[in-house]
Parts: sequence; C-alpha cells; structure tokens
Amino acid sequence: RIVYVNGAFVAEAEATISVFDRGFLMADGVYEVTSVLDGRLVDFAGHMARLERSLAELEMAAPAGREELESIHRELLARNGVTEGLVYMQVTRGAADRDFLYPDGAAPSLVLFTQSKPLIDTPAAARGLKVIVLDDIRWGRRDIKTVQLLAPSMAKMAAKAAGKDDAWMVEDGFVTEGTSNNAYIVTRDGAIVTRDLSHSILHGITRAAVLRLAREAQMRIEERPFTIAEAQDAAEAFVTSASSFVQPVVEIDGTALGDGTPGPVARRLREIYVSEALKSAV
Ligand code: PMP
Repeated sequence: RIVYVNGAFVAEAEATISVFDRGFLMADGVYEVTSVLDGRLVDFAGHMARLERSLAELEMAAPAGREELESIHRELLARNGVTEGLVYMQVTRGAADRDFLYPDGAAPSLVLFTQSKPLIDTPAAARGLKVIVLDDIRWGRRDIKTVQLLAPSMAKMAAKAAGKDDAWMVEDGFVTEGTSNNAYIVTRDGAIVTRDLSHSILHGITRAAVLRLAREAQMRIEERPFTIAEAQDAAEAFVTSASSFVQPVVEIDGTALGDGTPGPVARRLREIYVSEALKSAV
C-alpha cells in the first residue's frame, strides 16, 4: 500500500513521522474519513469544511489548501487502485520539543492512507447492530474531530467482550452518540429523533446528508436528546457514519426493538442515502 506523508507518496514501510510529533505525544491532531464509491469521493466538500472547522477550533495551521488536499486524495486512490473503501486523512500540529503550550511555527504533519473494503454490501447492514450502553467518558469538545480515540476504543472493546457490535454512550441521562457514529431512533408514530448539534457530539457529515434526504422524503425529524428508555421503546433505531452509511440497530442493552430485525425506516434511508451518494460522489 502506498501512503502519503508530508509531501511524498511512499510505500507504507518507508513512511516516517517524528517521535516529537504532537499527534503522537498529545493527540494534538484532527482527522477525516471519506468514503469511496466507484473510485469517487462521497461528500468530500463536507469533510473539508469540517476539517477546516476542527483546525480553526484548535488554532492549528492547515497543511494545504482544499484543492491540493483533493488532488492528494485522488492520486492516492489511483495509486492504490481503490474503488470502494475509505481515505483517512490526519493533520497534526507537527513536531516540537514536548510542551503543553502550542509551539510557534511548527509545520503541520499531513498523513493519508486508504483502505479497500466493501461498504454497500455488508453483513452488519443486513443483520442490524446490537449495542450496549455505557457512560460517555469522553472530553467536552466532541464536535472537534480529534485523534484521541481511546474512550471509544475502550467502549468498542467492552461491546465486543459482551458479544455485541457497538456501544451507545450516555451523558446526564441522554444518549450522546455511538462510538463512531451518530445515533437515531424512530418513534412509534414515525418521527426520526437524533440529538441536536452542540459540543457534545460530532457533527456528522452523514448525519447532515441523511437528515436532508429524510426531509426531502417528507419524513418528520426531531433534533433533540433522547433517553435509553425512550430508545428501547422506539419502533426502530439506527446509526450513521461515513464508513457505515446508515446501519440499523436491532437491540439496545439487551432489549430487542420491534421484532429484532432492521426496521423499514432505517432500510429505506440506507437505500436513499446510498443511491444519492453514488450519484453525487466526485
Ligand atoms: N460520531 C463520532 C464520535 C464519530 O467518530 C463519527 C465518525 N467519524 C460520527 C459521529 C459520524 O460522522 P461522519 O458521518 O462524518 O462520519
């Protein structure tokens, strides 16, 4: 596999980053994951806009402009022959002697790699996910897409140890989001409910697209927090992310939703989202 590191396309075994890189020492870095369908990028403009916002919130310099980042994405896809999968892009504040204060004038580090994998036909989408419920122990700026992923990593390990697929996290009695996705329920009277945007959750690019498509399909949407009790009593549930699109959730903390199979709203939204992504990918 060819990866991109600070200006060069190199074999992954040849790629190097300084041990003083603040991404490595302090998780002082942000990232984006863009899905690839038919060799094209899905919602690239949205991912770039969020990257710029994450960088601005952390007063971190951009490593390159939008056009250059886009051409690096395309070249890496071409070099690795990726038609379906993901592009991971990470920007860190760069290398500097270890200090809590941001260094003056460090050059940001830019790393990209690709992953080839099926995104449309996946067993999890067909079967639906079973989720456990955990306290949300992450920091208070989850709207910034930083590389500090140890809390969600621990949560996924706990889900695996329990024989389940993922975890929904709860803060002050309300669901924030999944470990790497935004969380939704569909009420018995057909409303799609997902938590409103704030510092408590990542502003999902897929969330924005799915809500837009749901509105266009005349579905009712309520952006507000919901509890696990409300979710367990809901008609259905699902999650969204760039890598999983829309995935049904069929069980929450041991309680099956409906008949325990993917619900019609989640299945329809997945279909609508995938066909729109195939059409609009660039
Ligand atoms: N929340 C969290 C915590 C995530 O890690 C992700 C995946 N990046 C999402 C939500 C979904 O965001 P997106 O649709 O932009 O992938």
